Amino acid sequence: MSTSKPTNLRIPGPTPVTPEILKEMSRLMINHRGEEFRHLIESVTKRLKVIYETNQDLHILTASGTGAMETAIVNTLSPGDNVLAITVGAFGDRFAKIAEIYGADVTVLRSALGESADPDKVMSELNNNPNIKAVLVTHNETSTGVTNDVESIAKIVKQDFGKLLLVDGVSSVGSVPLKTDDWKCDAVASASQKGWMAPPGLAFLSFSLESWKANASSTMPKFYFDLREYKKYMEIGQPPWTPNLSLFFALDKALDLMLTEGMHNVHARHVKTAQKFRDGVQELGLELLAKTESASNTITSVILPEGIDAKEFLYIARTEHNVELAGGQQALANKIFRIGHLGLVTDDEITETISAIKHSLEKLK
Ligand code: PMP
Repeated sequence: MSTSKPTNLRIPGPTPVTPEILKEMSRLMINHRGEEFRHLIESVTKRLKVIYETNQDLHILTASGTGAMETAIVNTLSPGDNVLAITVGAFGDRFAKIAEIYGADVTVLRSALGESADPDKVMSELNNNPNIKAVLVTHNETSTGVTNDVESIAKIVKQDFGKLLLVDGVSSVGSVPLKTDDWKCDAVASASQKGWMAPPGLAFLSFSLESWKANASSTMPKFYFDLREYKKYMEIGQPPWTPNLSLFFALDKALDLMLTEGMHNVHARHVKTAQKFRDGVQELGLELLAKTESASNTITSVILPEGIDAKEFLYIARTEHNVELAGGQQALANKIFRIGHLGLVTDDEITETISAIKHSLEKLK
C-alpha cells in the first residue's frame, strides 16, 4: 500500500532506512571479483570490526541473522558435542534448535519470559556438566525485550570455565555496547536490518582465534556457510559466493553515518530513546514485560491490557494511526505487543507511537 507519509515502522527490524542510505541501493552493479569491490569489502569489514570492538576475524554473509547463528554453530562444533543453550525467549530457543538439528547434545537453561539469564545458574550448569564445550547466549532477546548480562556470563564461561561462547547479537550490536574482544566472545552474530540502519540481507559474524581452533576439529556439515572458504577468499578481498552488492553499498553508507556520529553517541541515543518509550507507555498506565534492570534499549515489550485482542489493536494502530507495531511471538502471542526502537528514531516518531497506542487501546475498550 502506498501512502504519502511513510509508515512509522516500529517493529524490531527491518528498521526504517533513510533516503540517503536507500539511494545507495540504486547504484550500478560492479564486479564482485574486482578491485572496486575488494576496496569496499575491506573497508566495510574494518568498520564493522570497530563497532564490534574486535581485532579478530569478521565475515559478512549474504543471509539474515539466523544464517550467522548457524554459521557460528556449524563452524565450531561437531555432532555429539555438549552445548549449554541459555534461553530467555524465542531467539534463544532458535539458537538451541540449530545446534540440536546439527546433532549437538543440547542442555537448555531457561528463564521465565520477561526475565534475563541468571549468571549464577550458568555457573552451576557448568559446574554440574564438565563436558560442555560451548555456551550459546542471546545478548538481546527480541521476543521479550530483555537484555542479558553477557559481560558477567562471559566472565564465567571464559575466565572460570574456558568454554566457547557463541553470542546472538542480532538485535544488539551497533545499538548497545557489546565488547567482543574484552568480554572474550568467540563468535558474535548480527544482521543488517537491525541497528545498522540498512535493509535486511547481510549478516555478520565475528570469529575468535579460539573459534578457529575449534573449527579445526569441527565436523558438522557445512558448505555455503563454511567459514574456511570465507577466510581463504578474504585474503584476496572477495567473498566465496556472489554477495548482495546493493546491500554492501547501503551498509557502507550506514556505517559512515554511525561512525561519524560516534558509537558512544549512538549507544547513548538508544538509551534515551528507550527510556522515552518506556516512560510513555507507563504514563498510559501500561505495564512492561521486562524488569527495569534488564529492559532492552532496542525493543520494549508491553503487556496487553485484559480483553484487548492483539490483532485488532495492531490493525487499528497501523490503519488509523500509521504506526506499525509488533505482536508477541509464540507463548507471548496475544499477551504483549512490542515496540522496536533500534537505529534512527525521531522524537516525532516516539510521540506518534505513544499516541497511536493510546488511541488504539481507547477505541477497543
Ligand atoms: N536473533 C535475534 C535476537 C533476533 O532479533 C532475530 C531477528 N528478529 C534473529 C535472531 C533472527 O534474525 P533473522 O530474522 O535476520 O534471521
